[in-house]
Amino acid sequence: MDYEVVIGMEVHVELKTESKAFCGCSTAFGAAPNTHVCPVCLGLPGVLPVLNRKAVEHAVRVGLALGCEISAFSKFDRKNYFYPDMPKNYQISQYDKPLTSTGRLPILVDGAIREIRIRRAHLEEDAGKLLHLDDGTTGVDFNRAGVPLLEIVSEPDLHSADEAVEYLLRLKTLLEYLGVSDCNMEEGSMRCEANVDVRPTGGGPIGDIVEIKNVASITGVKRAIEFEFERQRDLLEMGGTVKRETRRWNPDSARTTVMRTKELAHDYRYFPEPDLVPVVLDRETIERMRETLPELPLARQLRYMNEHGLSEYDSGVLTAQQAAADFYESCARLYGQPKVVCNWVMGELFRLMKERRVGFDTLQVTPTALVDMLKLIDNGTISGTIGKTVIEAMFATGLPPDRIVVDRGLMQISDTAELEKTITAVLEANSKPVADYRGGNEKTFGFLVGQVMRATKGKANPKLVNELLRKALDTGGE
Ligand SMILES: [Zn+2]
Repeated sequence: MDYEVVIGMEVHVELKTESKAFCGCSTAFGAAPNTHVCPVCLGLPGVLPVLNRKAVEHAVRVGLALGCEISAFSKFDRKNYFYPDMPKNYQISQYDKPLTSTGRLPILVDGAIREIRIRRAHLEEDAGKLLHLDDGTTGVDFNRAGVPLLEIVSEPDLHSADEAVEYLLRLKTLLEYLGVSDCNMEEGSMRCEANVDVRPTGGGPIGDIVEIKNVASITGVKRAIEFEFERQRDLLEMGGTVKRETRRWNPDSARTTVMRTKELAHDYRYFPEPDLVPVVLDRETIERMRETLPELPLARQLRYMNEHGLSEYDSGVLTAQQAAADFYESCARLYGQPKVVCNWVMGELFRLMKERRVGFDTLQVTPTALVDMLKLIDNGTISGTIGKTVIEAMFATGLPPDRIVVDRGLMQISDTAELEKTITAVLEANSKPVADYRGGNEKTFGFLVGQVMRATKGKANPKLVNELLRKALDTGGE
């Protein structure tokens, strides 16, 4: 029997706000434990939470970008459970009236678009963090308690580990474009849980779902799903049943282990948060926010494929980072010939940025400068090979390309007499390849071109070298 896997994703992202969801404490990461706390986020008696407007705006932007319905009326609830990192013994979350619901996130699978349905995206607050200390005791850091979180829940529409990875990458890029979260998995500002169900192919209701928690990287999600698929399939094949439970992914042993049997929603005893007023949004405000959305990454990628003629791969790399897409697009607008621009940006520029660890925020090469360099190639001032040297100097100094070319004497040699002199010298120094060529071995021609380019340190006009060399070889024999 064949089996298929059905996956739903729950993603928690910390929203990028200056202060916490319900108090004025800082959300800055990395401060000394318990320095960003106050009576409200510590849950001390007699305090009242006040909702952070920015957190609501971020959540609405995400909802709009995901094509969700934005609720005109939504409210907060208390999700009651006890855990040592939660000072109030309840978490402020949204239960039956979430801020946004029923949207979709389009992903690209094998070149085709698939829409993954989004069940809901709701606001809640983050918990604190347990610190297991060297002396065997455990401390709690409440700096993170109360940081606004958005929980984005998909329908079980994903059918492989690779699709789940694609979904997460698409979602991460989208959130970064919207500027609502850093999505830094190492700092915990993006956390994923996968609900994985394995069943016979082509049918059957969704069975009991296994929830995988604590996955700290996208690669981890992929490996955890692959492991879980095999584990559940083996269980079913041996006639067993899969229990509803929460499992933990252990990257070291590369397996999932039982964490707890799954609580049902009613175990949480949700009830309306009495200290917060409902969030009421009018249509006009929502529509105004819709107008401020940027062009979304997938739309941008498709535009580059359709209008610029770029491949799915190239356009995907360029649009994975908004700054990269902005840079590429400025160049393409100034220069035309998108494919040429794409090759230089993804080739030399990205190579240098990666090698020297430079981001777009500190990049010294401007789109105008890069385009000026391309024009120097086009008008014959420099060769394409020298272009690579020039861009490297632009990268290091921030100087304009024409200045670099003049200062370093990198002008292309298109002087026929000068090139002929070099060619004569090269032919004299390479009598064996010359004889081979004249004896009918065409392959040595390329070698001789290379020698001429080397002799001129790459500055010779390659087209002219080809012409003159051919002439010299074909007519220069006895
Ligand atoms: Zn606080």
